[in-house]
Amino acid sequence: MTIKEYVAKRKRELKEEVSHFSTPIKMVIVQVNDDPASDTYIRGKIRDSEEVGIQAELIKLPVTTTQLELSTLIKRLNQDSSVHGFIIQMPLPKGIDEEYIKTLVSPAKDIDGFHPLSKFSPCTPLGIINYLKEENIVLDGRNAVVIGRSNIVGKPMARLLMKENMNVTVLHSHTFEDDLQFYVAHADLIVIAIGHKYFLNHSFSYKKDAVLVDVGINRVDGVTYGDIEPEQNVRLQTPVPGGVGLLTRLTLLCNLTEAYKNAFFHH
Ligand code: NAP
Repeated sequence: MTIKEYVAKRKRELKEEVSHFSTPIKMVIVQVNDDPASDTYIRGKIRDSEEVGIQAELIKLPVTTTQLELSTLIKRLNQDSSVHGFIIQMPLPKGIDEEYIKTLVSPAKDIDGFHPLSKFSPCTPLGIINYLKEENIVLDGRNAVVIGRSNIVGKPMARLLMKENMNVTVLHSHTFEDDLQFYVAHADLIVIAIGHKYFLNHSFSYKKDAVLVDVGINRVDGVTYGDIEPEQNVRLQTPVPGGVGLLTRLTLLCNLTEAYKNAFFHH
């Protein structure tokens, strides 16, 4: 099943599930920037929510908002039982400490999975794992290579793959070229998230039944490219666009639905 088909199917299932909820399910998006890319992401999140019957409210604050004002809003949202999950859209203005702000969101409502004690995994890595399972990709005991070690993709990806009993190697900008070639050639699964157009390309050799997951989003002259050149000779390669980005968006809705059910059963 392509990622597009999988996401459409999961959305239909979520819509059906949510339609049986006895009270409205709601998320809040807090935006404290004037960033056009954020505007686009937020529009997508609101559209996705509406599609499956989830209420999504945008609270847009001026860029002059102080850390104290934002903290006060977060505390209010933590306590508001009509809000099941919320996200603080990054980036935040200078003068607001992003890492500190992430720790204020209640772990039970942290559907982005950014709090160290969050009940949820970050959306991109979790979405990838769920899709690979749907495709019946065997993970247990196999070799995974994660290229990139960011807090939102690379590190949580490596952690989730270890949980699936994979042998995980994490590569980054200090990795030597020879080692990169070696690990790529021996990988059953490669997840790349570095933001470098066609970093993996036909100059590499892969196992013929390798699975390549491309997280990269590189915009050049208005066109979006992945971190992997299309049409590598492997078993499965995720496309960009129309690939991991869709899984990330889907998983935010899945996390919110979980947050709703958790709140419902605990009251
Ligand atoms: P990030 O915070 O910028 O981190 C980039 C990582 O790539 C760093 O760990 C860096 O290594 C590594 N790296 C950079 N150049 C490298 C090289 N030449 N060789 C090996 N490793 C290299 O990135 P991010 O936030 O994880 O995002 C990565 C990409 O994924 C971006 O294109 C972003 O737009 C995209 N993204 C997509 C989604 C989605 O839903 N599709 C979600 C999130 C991000 P060091 O640690 O050594 O600096």
